[in-house]
Amino acid sequence: VHAVEDQHRVAVAEGAATVDADALRLHAELPAAVQEGQLRVHYQRLVAAGTGRTLGLEALVRWQHPTRGLLGPCAFVPLAERSHAIVGLTHWVLRTAAAQCAAWRAAGHEVSVAVNVSPVVLGDPSLVNAVRRAITTNGLAPGVLTLEVTESALLLDPEGAATVLAALREAGARVSIDDFGTGYTSLTMLRQLAVDELKIDRSFVVAAPQAPADAAIVRALVDLAHRLSMHVVAEGVEDARTADLVRDLGADVLQGYHFARPVPAEEVFAPADVPARP
Ligand code: C2E
Ligand code: CA
Ligand code: CA
Ligand code: CA
Repeated sequence: VHAVEDQHRVAVAEGAATVDADALRLHAELPAAVQEGQLRVHYQRLVAAGTGRTLGLEALVRWQHPTRGLLGPCAFVPLAERSHAIVGLTHWVLRTAAAQCAAWRAAGHEVSVAVNVSPVVLGDPSLVNAVRRAITTNGLAPGVLTLEVTESALLLDPEGAATVLAALREAGARVSIDDFGTGYTSLTMLRQLAVDELKIDRSFVVAAPQAPADAAIVRALVDLAHRLSMHVVAEGVEDARTADLVRDLGADVLQGYHFARPVPAEEVFAPADVPARP
């Protein structure tokens, strides 16, 4: 599994050197790829800082390309975000992840699932209905589906974003601000938005054990979030030392290679992992 992830990182890195014509070709193939079932979702665990229990899974899209192999999102998501293609892709991930979450829950795993929503998609009028449908079709309880939006999505059109976030919560979804700390969300905006969770960007988390300033930022973000009744996720936790530190700094939920890599759905829980039902 690790080999697959590493392979795809290499494939993407090599692809970056052969530039734009190639990326454009990929982009043109994307809508058909969605139709023809070439997209995959890998899932990465989010664990409780206190107990290590798996609370949820983040859905991360991949493209099983017929000739290029397994592609990571950086090979096709950025271009898709510049066109309407990202909308179809996101709705597909949403349906897939919601159905998978329902299947896990039916098997006794009390997990939630998180889906990434790009700024363009947040601004698309069809999102709220797509989310409502994903929740009702799969009978998900309120708060089981989380949508991860980036700060840039909020800055683009703060009023529009506030309306959409409120509608998403009304539909039963949780809202998380992804890569928090890298953008410029004002404190006022944070207070006014209907947000459940902040995900502190990996750059702060990775640096925290070495750099007191980064550790101080993490602690300040945690305090701020808790005062606003939001949960805090620390992403990009790669070793035990970092896990211990961000836990001590107050993060509620941890995510990163130290706990698990993104893997296909069937590899998330070992067969023996199914908890006994009372
Ligand atoms: P993200 O939302 O910040 O997702 C976390 C990324 O960090 C994932 O990369 C994950 O594999 C990686 N990661 C997790 N733990 C660690 C760690 O401990 N160390 C390091 N170095 N990296 C870690 P991935 O899967 O390549 O996704 C990259 C980005 O692509 C995501 O960043 C997200 O912005 C975007 N993306 C992925 N799936 C989707 C999707 O379905 N829709 C949209 N719109 N964007 C997506
Ligand atoms: Ca994310
Ligand atoms: Ca992130
Ligand atoms: Ca990121």
